[in-house]
Amino acid sequence: MIPFGPVPSRRLGQSLGINNIPPKICSYSCVYCQLGRTLKMQVERQPFYEPEEILRAVKEKVKKAREAGGPVDYLTFVPDGEPTLDVNLGREIHLLRELDIPIAVITNSSLIVRSDVRKDLMGANWVSLKMDAVDQGVWRRIIRPHRRLELKSILEGALEFAKTFRGELATETMLVAGLNDTDPLLSGTADFLACLQPAVAYLSIPTRPPAEAWVHAPAEDVINRAYQIFSERLNRVEYLIGYEGNAFAFTGDVEEDLLSITSVHPMRENAVNEFLARAGTDRSVVHRLISQDQLIETEYGGYKFYLRKLKKRNENSSPL
Ligand code: SF4
Repeated sequence: MIPFGPVPSRRLGQSLGINNIPPKICSYSCVYCQLGRTLKMQVERQPFYEPEEILRAVKEKVKKAREAGGPVDYLTFVPDGEPTLDVNLGREIHLLRELDIPIAVITNSSLIVRSDVRKDLMGANWVSLKMDAVDQGVWRRIIRPHRRLELKSILEGALEFAKTFRGELATETMLVAGLNDTDPLLSGTADFLACLQPAVAYLSIPTRPPAEAWVHAPAEDVINRAYQIFSERLNRVEYLIGYEGNAFAFTGDVEEDLLSITSVHPMRENAVNEFLARAGTDRSVVHRLISQDQLIETEYGGYKFYLRKLKKRNENSSPL
């Protein structure tokens, strides 16, 4: 199935996914990949499907979604592999323009060094670049890249792309316990991301069964530290840890709202107190959520922070 969904995505609203790569062809074999180990490692671009066939299938899916009364906010290239390996990506984006729906691409950044890939991505409205580490050794351990890939060139390609891309640029950093989550490594990654000036930098953690069983998410206090280190250097930082369905939704329900907000970013104690005052309630709700193991209290830089307890995401939830 080339198009799938639409599925709710916190980043992109109701997003219709486009799987333009057969499973699982990728330039990386990330230790945390939810699709398992890469079946075919490659860095050469090639055609996989006819662009006209992709257009036809997506059109059909959009029509059905609209007939069912659902919106389609984005068409998102998010395949079972790396979308830029598809040499027809630029043409597909061009053809899909006739649907008048914004187009997103979630790429692992491996081929961003290539000018043809950067040109293809220029046609999208929203692009997310994976940036897990800027330390060569750590990057190799997490990503397990194709032997022809070099981190230095990828970083240069990303900078070049960020300079010229007129759409909305996002970055995504997966935090893996014991690999890329020390303060110096996080600072190095955040310093580089600051040069890209993304509209938003997402922090994510492995929430589904990873390719390697030893992979784990860092502890909550480490995730909070990562958030703070990123926030010191970047305008907008958000967690991407699930709960897409109700993030930031106004429910009028204090517990729900508190959990929604803290699943996206930690709240400082004074912000929580102000929020509770506005809602006309007291801190008993915070104590209750902590005792129910839904909320975590942690410290950073002399301040108390609250964040949502990170649980495994629903297995049926979207990869978007
Ligand atoms: S880049 Fe994405 S698809 Fe490829 S191995 Fe990593 S997580 Fe899996």
